[in-house]
Amino acid sequence: MKNSKVILLTGASSGIGYDTAIALAEEGHKVYAAARRIERMEPLRKYGVEPLMMDVTREDSMQQGVQAILAKEGRIDVLINNAGYGYFGAVETVPMEDARNQLEVNIFGLARLCQLVLPAMRAQHFGRIINTSSVAGKSVFYYGGWYHVSKYAVEALSDALRMELKPFGIDVVIIEPGAIKTNWGIIAADHLAQTSEGTAYQESGRVMAENLRNMYLSPWLSEPAVVRKAICRAVNARCPRTRYRIGRLSGAIVFFHWLLPTRWWDAMMRMMGFSSSVWRDR
Ligand code: NDP
Repeated sequence: MKNSKVILLTGASSGIGYDTAIALAEEGHKVYAAARRIERMEPLRKYGVEPLMMDVTREDSMQQGVQAILAKEGRIDVLINNAGYGYFGAVETVPMEDARNQLEVNIFGLARLCQLVLPAMRAQHFGRIINTSSVAGKSVFYYGGWYHVSKYAVEALSDALRMELKPFGIDVVIIEPGAIKTNWGIIAADHLAQTSEGTAYQESGRVMAENLRNMYLSPWLSEPAVVRKAICRAVNARCPRTRYRIGRLSGAIVFFHWLLPTRWWDAMMRMMGFSSSVWRDR
């Protein structure tokens, strides 16, 4: 392929990242797919994807991964920071260690990988950083405090990077999905149920965790394919957009967050989070 790029993609062992790794490899790019559960990425080899064991909370792991790609390919053209998870729970009950880990994965790991690839990108005067944010970086949902902190930070850091890197010919793109049918929701719901247990938030946490599970099991959510397509566009476009907002509800959420007075927004979130009929029968 003429415009084949060397790509480091994190969060590739499941969901959006897994799908995206296949699509980019099928387009002819050289894809290094990174995550901790390397065994889950073995099937990607048949598409030509190279699985890479990487924990984005560990400095040595990130350094080794980036150096291995540079040693083999001599360059990294595109970094897709997609690794992330949602640690849901009331701010009062989420242990600080878990809050820190949420930020380690979703923002500090992302930032550190940018630092590690940038010298090579600057040297070739070309590069693209694609960060998976979320509509959760634009609006706040019940019991998502630390997750939202991390995604608002992804938005701000990406905006800063875009300005700083323009003179070096490096583009920065933000992907803002709405709710996408992956394991993300189940993981967030499990954390919420677990941290609420035995606290003042037990009952509301239980109800919302159940709603979150129903929501993520519902066929109404968008499939990872919609995000995959946006990421592929961001990789291949000569002049990519700065933001790709995709998935059902994503536009509506951002619009209503902008439109509604704050307490109306809070009430709408309350209705969506705790009214058990909202997702159950869908
Ligand atoms: P999944 O749970 O399916 O995938 C999450 C990925 O992140 C996995 O590959 C996991 O790999 C990786 N990951 C988690 N912790 C670490 C770590 N410490 N080091 C390296 N990799 C890690 O969820 P999605 O595909 O949905 O999530 C992908 C991104 O999309 C995330 O950033 C998420 O916040 C964002 N997003 C998701 C939405 C949704 O509704 N699904 C909506 C908006 C944004 P492993 O555990 O093997 O390391």
